[in-house]
Amino acid sequence: MIDKIPKQELLYLDRIKKFVQEELNPISLQVETSGEIPEAIVEKMRRLGLFGLAIPGKYGGLGLSTLGEILVYEELTQTNACFRSRIGTSNSIGSMGILFDGTEDQKKKYLPWIAQGERTAAFALTEPDAGSDAANIQCRAVLDGDHWLLNGTKQFITNGDCAGVITTIAVTDDNKRARGGFTAFIVENDFPGLCVSPPDRKMGLRGSHTNELVFRNCRVPRENVIGGPSMVGQGFNTAMRVLDKGRLTMGACALGASQKLLEYSRDHIRHLIQSGKPRDDLQAARFSLADMATEIFAARRMLYETARLRDTGKNVTQEASMVKLFCTEMASRIADRAMGIFEDEGYLTKNQIEMFLRDVRLYRIFEGTSEIQRMVIARNLLKD
Ligand SMILES: Cc1cc2nc3c(=O)[nH]c(=O)nc-3n(C[C@H](O)[C@H](O)[C@H](O)COP(=O)(O)OP(=O)(O)OC[C@H]3O[C@@H](n4cnc5c(N)ncnc54)[C@H](O)[C@@H]3O)c2cc1C
Repeated sequence: MIDKIPKQELLYLDRIKKFVQEELNPISLQVETSGEIPEAIVEKMRRLGLFGLAIPGKYGGLGLSTLGEILVYEELTQTNACFRSRIGTSNSIGSMGILFDGTEDQKKKYLPWIAQGERTAAFALTEPDAGSDAANIQCRAVLDGDHWLLNGTKQFITNGDCAGVITTIAVTDDNKRARGGFTAFIVENDFPGLCVSPPDRKMGLRGSHTNELVFRNCRVPRENVIGGPSMVGQGFNTAMRVLDKGRLTMGACALGASQKLLEYSRDHIRHLIQSGKPRDDLQAARFSLADMATEIFAARRMLYETARLRDTGKNVTQEASMVKLFCTEMASRIADRAMGIFEDEGYLTKNQIEMFLRDVRLYRIFEGTSEIQRMVIARNLLKD
């Protein structure tokens, strides 16, 4: 299937592979400890065009196909996951609402900023009482002359403290709520009334920040409703379309991590064989390796096929949920198996197995938990 992607995209992929091996891998542990990606690396990401993978060329991005973009994420997640996360929200949940539903003026104003990495994009849907149940959001927007006044709290917002543009979903009609009463706004980080809390302390993705955003009479110009005045009330649909795309991305991230864990595990078993460990003692490890490779083979086919279908214009809501469910659950199984193969060595920070084990758990939580994917899949199967 890779042979179907344009030569230009394959050449770009080679540059990303090199960047991962030569620039990101060597600082992975340093970033894990410091919790920060050095600005010089972020600058190199900008120059490589990584902030605008999916944004069309006419708005300053690379305009990669879905398959091309997926392949880039697969490469970027073969190292510390926080590097992918730094560019991830700009390419998917943070910018896609503007790309899918924005007015031409909004696209011209915001997409070039985002694509060139001048302003990172983020996406603010989750609240203290609204995670999986996104229809329960309480953040409110009330029209006040030429501005909307936003009030409420969003939490777990990836890249919240480095974002310049935040797609924010708020309630504009309490009677209609998710059925025509939510609106998507473009909020700039310097709009008065927006307060960003310090980064959350987390189990994994330590070099990627999540923050609480508090809106207190935050003034958002009327023209910043995504899609303009006729789209007031349509924010839930925008958010759901954005998440469809994000689910494929999560599949790619889970696959990239799994591939790396497979390679680490294979090299470790080879090392044990070379060190004279009897083959019989390694039977369980060898079978584990075989199971890992088999699952990865299946996951890769699913993911690439769904990306290809999306590139042909097909609606892939059902397939994207299946990909997210399968790939992310697989990554947790694979990380656990890798830990079993490495045993005590895997528990040591320097070998990075424990980092992958912590990081891949997240893929089963955000952009819809595994249970939510199962609900989507079953609902579609049971439709008349
Ligand atoms: C590191 C990180 C980054 C994030 N980044 C962002 C971001 O950038 N923007 C953003 O808006 N959000 C973000 N989130 C929030 C994330 O999307 C939510 O955490 C996720 O949707 C789950 O919501 P919740 O944590 O409130 O869990 P809950 O919804 O409270 O769910 C708790 C458990 O109940 C299960 N459950 C819930 N409902 C059902 C049901 N109907 N049937 C069966 N089981 C159910 C869930 O699967 C889960 O296991 C991030 C979260 C994390 C941890």
